[in-house]
Amino acid sequence: MKRTIVIGAGFGGLALAIRLQAAGIPTRLLESRDKPGGRAYVYEDDGFIFDAGPTVITDPSALEALFTVAGKRLADYVELMPVTPFYRLCWENGVVFDYVNDQAALEAQIDKLNPADVAGYRRFLAYSKEVFEEGYLKLGAKPFLSFRDMLKAAPQLTRLKAWRSVYSMVSSFVEDEHLRQAFSFHSLLVGGNPFSTSSIYTLIHALEREWGVWFPRGGTGALVDGLVKLFTDIGGVIELNAPVERLETEGDRITGVTLGDGRQIEARAVASNADVVHTYAKLLGHHPRGQKASASLKRKRMSNSLFVLYFGLDHNHTQLAHHTVCFGARYRELIDEIFNKDALAEDFSLYLHAPCVTDPSLAPPGCGAYYVLAPVPHLGTADLDWAVEGPRLRERIFDYLEAHYMPGLRSQLVTHRHITPFDFRDTLNAYQGSAFSVEPILTQSAWFRPHNRDSQIDNLYLVGAGTHPGAGIPGVIGSAQATAGLMIEDLGQRETPA
Ligand SMILES: Cc1cc2nc3c(=O)[nH]c(=O)nc-3n(C[C@H](O)[C@H](O)[C@H](O)COP(=O)(O)OP(=O)(O)OC[C@H]3O[C@@H](n4cnc5c(N)ncnc54)[C@H](O)[C@@H]3O)c2cc1C
Repeated sequence: MKRTIVIGAGFGGLALAIRLQAAGIPTRLLESRDKPGGRAYVYEDDGFIFDAGPTVITDPSALEALFTVAGKRLADYVELMPVTPFYRLCWENGVVFDYVNDQAALEAQIDKLNPADVAGYRRFLAYSKEVFEEGYLKLGAKPFLSFRDMLKAAPQLTRLKAWRSVYSMVSSFVEDEHLRQAFSFHSLLVGGNPFSTSSIYTLIHALEREWGVWFPRGGTGALVDGLVKLFTDIGGVIELNAPVERLETEGDRITGVTLGDGRQIEARAVASNADVVHTYAKLLGHHPRGQKASASLKRKRMSNSLFVLYFGLDHNHTQLAHHTVCFGARYRELIDEIFNKDALAEDFSLYLHAPCVTDPSLAPPGCGAYYVLAPVPHLGTADLDWAVEGPRLRERIFDYLEAHYMPGLRSQLVTHRHITPFDFRDTLNAYQGSAFSVEPILTQSAWFRPHNRDSQIDNLYLVGAGTHPGAGIPGVIGSAQATAGLMIEDLGQRETPA
């Protein structure tokens, strides 16, 4: 039986494969690595379990929908636990802000920083909710295939002042600099510079307030395992260690794929969850369409990369929150350097993940598993030798964490490993080592982003962070819904005899 092929088992590929299989389209998922998950890979070292990537799980309804279309219940596959505070935000001057889902508690903290900002925050929340309804609920899972689709959305985008940046919009509501940072850093979670990304990304605030922040018992890896089990339970086929080398074509049709071991597999249609530049430049590089599309994609701005340090301690730092954002002394200047400067900054802002606060099973008894990440330039912005810079940055970050957040860290260290832009480039095939693919600026969003169905090869589809709506788990699950809608319609039509 000729199955439809999905290349890559990231959240986007998994979600698409589930939707296709659930719609009765026999689907085969091909993943190059030895485990599924993509950015959400899992490292297991010395009894510690480290989720490699996403840790802040939002919009559980999007996950639930994947189980519902397959006639199953999420709760039978994975347990999602609420996390509170959503994040603890800390500054070097001693200010701490617990970002919680309780209006009174939030307002009390805002009042302490600047009483006038309480009213401003209420207005910001109302704005963010409006953007959330227009940008996420209405357009988040719609494919933008034609410029007409973009024009239809233009009046809402204009009304919501989508041309303004996240930071400038937040600043129009609140004055205190801590609060401006607290309500603008979110776009960094999907690779967007708050000073140049469209204010549409303020919707993340309303999304979190609406549905909360969650963590799967057993870690994000347990959620990935749950999705894989769901896919195979309904008859899907997944193959690991199966890198696709080439998309086979006849004229402007895809006929199948060739794998790294030389095997050829025929397919009715192929959807790629792999990096969009990799898909066109490498997998379709032999076809004029691949050459044209990759040349155009390489002119786009890619989002930043990340340095991520995973470490296990023989101590559980229970004073920490599950998610901590450690703001450094500089905000605007540091972000500008990360996105635009050909060098590594002397300082950093960090995100610290302490999952054992919620789920101690991720480390041996009495121990703690952690990761800390620093946004860094991608390889097109700063062509650094990460074999040298990585260990240096690791030592600077350990010193900083020990001094500010985790006393005794070095003497408690049991194991550590890190990933750099090189890993994003070499292991995930990410162009320029970008952590979030095409940068989410207005001129690279919606119709301006790579489309969910190729414009020339109409049985080639894309899904994941490089397509509409963009990075982040809710984003790539939304892109899977958009792509699945197109594929089910197209493949369904072809199945019907003329
Ligand atoms: C460190 C980090 C932390 C993050 N934190 C969060 C968070 O807390 N919350 C959140 O919502 N988002 C977070 N994100 C963003 C989110 O993880 C990603 O946007 C999302 O997971 C990307 O999913 P994807 O489906 O686009 O693809 P990916 O996860 O990139 O998966 C693509 C898959 O394709 C495979 N592949 C590539 N080439 C081939 C080939 N030739 N053949 C076969 N397979 C191939 C890759 O191995 C990979 O498995 C984070 C990202 C990172 C890096």
